[in-house]
Amino acid sequence: MKQSVTLATCPVCDSSDITNSMNVRDHMITQEIFTVQKCGTCDFYFTNPRPAEEIIGNYYKSEEYVSHSSSNKGIINKLYNIVRGITLKQKRAVLEQLTDGRSLLDIGCGTGHFLNECKTNGWSVLGLEPDADARSFTKEKFGIETLPVEELYEREKSSFDVITMWHVLEHVYHLKKDVRQISGLIKPGGFLIIAVPNRESWDARNYKELWAAYDVPRHLYHFSEKNVIELMKQFDLKHQKTLPMKFDSFYVSMLSEKYRKGSLFKAMVNGFRSNLKAKSGFGYSSQIYIFKK
Ligand SMILES: [Zn+2]
Repeated sequence: MKQSVTLATCPVCDSSDITNSMNVRDHMITQEIFTVQKCGTCDFYFTNPRPAEEIIGNYYKSEEYVSHSSSNKGIINKLYNIVRGITLKQKRAVLEQLTDGRSLLDIGCGTGHFLNECKTNGWSVLGLEPDADARSFTKEKFGIETLPVEELYEREKSSFDVITMWHVLEHVYHLKKDVRQISGLIKPGGFLIIAVPNRESWDARNYKELWAAYDVPRHLYHFSEKNVIELMKQFDLKHQKTLPMKFDSFYVSMLSEKYRKGSLFKAMVNGFRSNLKAKSGFGYSSQIYIFKK
């Protein structure tokens, strides 16, 4: 079986002017080292080579990969669960400020918490998720049926008012193919909402290759704001605004400090500092990008 795939060109602009930028360790699971490459034409950063799609599942098998688990062990997971309760409501508010439409597709819906938040507030929801365990969890806990991600290609054109991808775009293997398909599924005047880490944030610059949101090899792409906007522009998605995710700087700083055997106190200080610096050109640790079809 093929173990890895090396891209010959940039996944955003197809330029062959790509060079090594840094080596990053998979601190979360395998401790393997991966190379992050940079495009000289559009300044996009991406993990290259990447594990073959057939074996990437091996890099997700961890209790610590909290987005796929609801375990309440450990201080980071506990905080994560508290913060999730707050951010679920904030995320729904983002949608409802944009549109009166109430049909939602959530791609990479994980354990279904956001689907449930929207469904119980009058949305008609569909969730796609690659992990079969997460799909069963969503069914058992919330009674919501979700589908494998391949179903993305079985949907009717122009059928959703809003499509959301919360920390998902950085994981998808067929970037432009999927974005093209996603764009086609949005109703004219509808919205695409993307949340991804921001490699230009202060915490990214501070922690460098120890920045937890590089999260190689699970994160195949390392976006700046400009990268996201240029990618979506290719598929007729017009950038409307960028919103902060102010908790992510704390969460990412906590993990990054753990990797460098630092302190929780330092993490809190750096989390605050990153949010303060955000407005002077760095942007936030993670950001929400809103695009209109
Ligand atoms: Zn490029």
